[in-house]
Amino acid sequence: MYIVQIASECAPVIKAGGLGDVVYGLSRELSKRGHEVELILPKYNNMRYDYIQEPDEAYRDLLVPWDGGMINCSVMYGKVEEQNCFFIDPQNSFFNRGHYYGSNDDALRFAFFSKAALEFLLHTKKRPDIIHCHDWQTGLVPVLLFEVYQEGMSYQRVAYSIHNFKHQGYAPVKLLSEAGLNAGELFREDRLMAQNKKEINLMKGGIVYSNAVNTVSPHYAWEARHTSEGYGLGDTLNAHQAKFKGILNGIDDRIWNPKVDTHIPVNYDIANFALKAKNKKALRERLWLRDPDEPTPRPIIAYIGRLDDQKGVHLVHHSMYYALERGAQFVLLGSPTGDKIRGWFQGEKNKLNDNPDVHLELSFNEELSHLIYAGADMMVVPSNYEPCGLTQMISLKYGTVPIVRSVGGLKNTVFDIDNDTDHPVEERNGYVFEHPNPPGLESALRRALDCWYMHRDSFDKLAKQGMKYDYSWKHPADEYLEVYDNIRHKIVEE
Ligand code: ADP
Repeated sequence: MYIVQIASECAPVIKAGGLGDVVYGLSRELSKRGHEVELILPKYNNMRYDYIQEPDEAYRDLLVPWDGGMINCSVMYGKVEEQNCFFIDPQNSFFNRGHYYGSNDDALRFAFFSKAALEFLLHTKKRPDIIHCHDWQTGLVPVLLFEVYQEGMSYQRVAYSIHNFKHQGYAPVKLLSEAGLNAGELFREDRLMAQNKKEINLMKGGIVYSNAVNTVSPHYAWEARHTSEGYGLGDTLNAHQAKFKGILNGIDDRIWNPKVDTHIPVNYDIANFALKAKNKKALRERLWLRDPDEPTPRPIIAYIGRLDDQKGVHLVHHSMYYALERGAQFVLLGSPTGDKIRGWFQGEKNKLNDNPDVHLELSFNEELSHLIYAGADMMVVPSNYEPCGLTQMISLKYGTVPIVRSVGGLKNTVFDIDNDTDHPVEERNGYVFEHPNPPGLESALRRALDCWYMHRDSFDKLAKQGMKYDYSWKHPADEYLEVYDNIRHKIVEE
């Protein structure tokens, strides 16, 4: 199959969050299976050019119709970790901002990118079987394809993946006519009209016009339709439920695998699980934590992730003090997403500076994250909402028992050892709590710590059960291929 992904990120060359990992991971898995995969991305001036190999000019003077005139673009080709990428470079300042997102005209920038990507396909006579778009930034692709590009590209089918419903791309109605679309026809409640009835919603366009829509876990798909997690798109999703589902993300098992991980001092797997303890020792040395295992062993509880309201920062904070109260150690590696949260955690860091049982690292540090996954005993993930979540899946792979809130993708991947009646005991892999408050969190953390202190054999058995789970790209890629096949076959039926 010939698949073109159109996205605003692809790791490692353009990565702001999980979206970049997913776009790359899925592309790689599909290519591995012999499918032809190409990616179309914006050419940002701040992307990681050092990850691009064999750069070349792919197209010069791509004239993209916009707002009654033309915007000239050039297109650069390059390989990113073996994947074929095309970078669209408009001759204006759209992608020369020093950041990927965060400009006042983001909706305009990415609507233009969506149109330019289709013009590029049209003029280079690339005719993929499937165009796969991601998040609000490329929501206009299927709208344009079906409203403007039928002549020339009538056989292309679109799969659309939503990685976070909170950001939907609201924009002024006039953006439609700038893009060459008929505002009169599209500014309707069953098409692109936003909930405020004053603007358009680009993600809504993606949902209405794509042949298949998914989000990144089955439970988040349910929440988006039936709870406030859809941020106003529940009715639209319900109207289009026949083409909507949840597909869990995968993790890259070349990078996240304790057996071969080059960032950790001692490799291990289920068969020699005891070696994990050497990584715990190394983690303590690296972070200047005391080694209090003589005479009484103590567990390390960790948190890795953005420090953001989405992630349940108050409960992250609470788990730190609860851990200390119970004689455990606590390690946090977090990137604060705002000044307020940064100030709060910086204050805690200063306050706890001399405490030998806690370490707070307020930065993004990929390499340290590997050592923490390998060295910690437990990982807390107390999210308020979580479309899929990678942290808990990585933790499982490293035999670090996840303690998670029962939301979104966390609910689909972690099964409580004491309470999950859907899975037999030997398939359970962590601790789960419901309520996003301290008693809720403690209900799970207490059980985990009790088990660690009093029944180490059972705790280690649980950790090893978690390591058996295969959350690689293998299963998700099967599911995406099934979606692609279904929507392609519709062409024949039509
Ligand atoms: P998000 O909502 O941020 O996409 P995910 O759980 O889906 O959350 O993915 C988070 C990924 O980013 C994981 O691979 C995690 O290890 C990594 N990560 C998050 N914060 C940090 C950090 N401060 N340092 C290193 N890695 C981090």
